[in-house]
Amino acid sequence: MTARLDDLPIRDDLRGQTPYGAPQAPLPVALNVNENTHPVPEDVADDILDAVARALGEVNRYPDREFTALREAFAEYLGHGLDRDGIWAANGSNEVLQHVLQAFAGPGRTAFGFAPTYSMYPLLARGTGAEWISGGRAADFSVAPEDAASQVANAAPDVVFLCAPNNPTGTPLDLETIAAVYDATDGVVVVDEAYQEFAPRDTPSALTLLPGRERMVVSRTMSKAFAFAGARVGYLAADPALIDALRLVRLPYHLSALTQAAATAALGHAETMLRMVDDIVGQRDRISATLDALGYEPYESWTNFVLFGGVDDPRATWQALYDRGILIRDVGIPHHLRVTAGTEQESTAFLDALASIDSAA
Ligand code: PMP
Repeated sequence: MTARLDDLPIRDDLRGQTPYGAPQAPLPVALNVNENTHPVPEDVADDILDAVARALGEVNRYPDREFTALREAFAEYLGHGLDRDGIWAANGSNEVLQHVLQAFAGPGRTAFGFAPTYSMYPLLARGTGAEWISGGRAADFSVAPEDAASQVANAAPDVVFLCAPNNPTGTPLDLETIAAVYDATDGVVVVDEAYQEFAPRDTPSALTLLPGRERMVVSRTMSKAFAFAGARVGYLAADPALIDALRLVRLPYHLSALTQAAATAALGHAETMLRMVDDIVGQRDRISATLDALGYEPYESWTNFVLFGGVDDPRATWQALYDRGILIRDVGIPHHLRVTAGTEQESTAFLDALASIDSAA
């Protein structure tokens, strides 16, 4: 007989919680977790393999705890006058965000975000013992500067998450709103730019706001634009003093030598790695236009996915697509579903399958 979770002496604040649980089903077309569905180009993969092979030669030793070469590579990729002292990295941006919460949230403290937003924020916050506070968005999921600032000032959180552009809605967030939120709090402001590379080319990053804002963090990931989700590499830019706070909570040697080698090699081919981004943006826009023509209500998206409303019964549509070999995401917003832009073939498979299901409300 196996025990039930409730029988164990688990922390009271974890009782009744559910873990992150996007289904991982082996379907031919998986467009549910905003991955980049294009594989890493072969010439880059060969180079990564060589780098990993070299790292294996020294895998009997602990890796560089400060992942110096990787931090230098991220600083070069991000530009904006950053150097390695202003860079941090971990196993996915989820872990990067966890480090921020471990250092600046925790028991007796609060973290805040504008719902609906990335579903891991509350889980990560609660995992550190912090309380999660949900703010609200306008009906089109946007957040205006004055409204954002007053919500944050009222909640007085220790950590604010601004997902820019926002998951699961795709909504852009302008720098004016980010600056207004920063001025409205004494806490740490995390701008999560996981999808920044899919925004229009001339869009300024929150990295431009960093100088002089020592409580601001801009996080990124290699999981989306870099097609590197399986390698688990996320990073952030911030004031070097804030990064020193993260050193207090990370596990020693948290980034394996193999991860460091693979990510550094991949960053050496940033241009090639990012070659698929334009393609994906094209598929995203085609998906939005076709959803609109089918009678659904797609939202403006600056990401690699599209949230669409006008779905009569999301559960039924999700299941009908599933039965046709296509996995998308029911993010729990009534009458809405979310789909990741795939390759041309995958996106076509999704659109054709949806057209064959008569489910627009
Ligand atoms: N932030 C946002 C907004 C995301 O959507 C995701 C992944 N879905 C992440 C962070 C985490 O990505 P990873 O841990 O793979 O870097």
